Amino acid sequence: MKLQAAILTQHDKARLIAPVLHRLGWQLSELSSFDTDALGSFSGERARFMSPYECALRKAAIAAELSGADIGIGSEGSFSPGPYGLGTFNLELLCCVNVAAGWAVTGRFYGPSLAQQWHISTPAQLQQALEKVSAGQFLLLQQGSVIVKGLSSTEAKQTALPLLANGAVSLRYDLRAHLSPERQRHIISAAEDLLLRLNSLCPACDTPGFWPDKTVPGLPCQACGSATGSTLEKQACCQRCQHRVAQRVAQHYADPQYCQECNP
Ligand SMILES: [Zn+2]
Ligand SMILES: [Zn+2]
Repeated sequence: MKLQAAILTQHDKARLIAPVLHRLGWQLSELSSFDTDALGSFSGERARFMSPYECALRKAAIAAELSGADIGIGSEGSFSPGPYGLGTFNLELLCCVNVAAGWAVTGRFYGPSLAQQWHISTPAQLQQALEKVSAGQFLLLQQGSVIVKGLSSTEAKQTALPLLANGAVSLRYDLRAHLSPERQRHIISAAEDLLLRLNSLCPACDTPGFWPDKTVPGLPCQACGSATGSTLEKQACCQRCQHRVAQRVAQHYADPQYCQECNP
């Protein structure tokens, strides 16, 4: 497949994604004519009105339309509290659409992030916080309506000290992709996931993105044999021709602790 792919220019993401897509033989070009902040800006000054998935899909469709390339790619990152409310997790989505062929495939990364936020009232607290910032990570400083973005640790210290004379400041990670080495690694992981999914073709019609995303419960209980909530099989369904393949999980039985009959 010698295809042209286009991505909206955003925080240097093309540089991260291009080497992965190159392995498919795709050429990636960047489009700078669209303001992605119109879809909601990363630092939250503009309210988001779409889910992260809708946003990535929309960006991909816009990239394809504006460039005239075969493939449009949209990237969207978001941060939210982790499982059980612990820590912060980063979701990175990389959506790839082929408008002419009629398919969309999304690669993803989901995992813990080092992202932190501090409420700071004294120079000593400022120093403590800055010592915890991971290498190469840029920062964002806020006091009331004043927001200063893209600061190195040294710049954050210089900017924060005079502000502290007026009151407390809030210091947090600037998570825009070009300012966060951790996010860059996560975006590359999402691109690797996208590559695997693009290379997985429907056995009936060759459409990419044939992936066992759907889990079906019903694994029988080892003690009594009744169906449990544990996964019995994983299903892949083609988005174009609806061809379906189900794959049984490796285990034959579920532990009775997950059984409604044995352990209600
Ligand atoms: Zn198919
Ligand atoms: Zn049972």
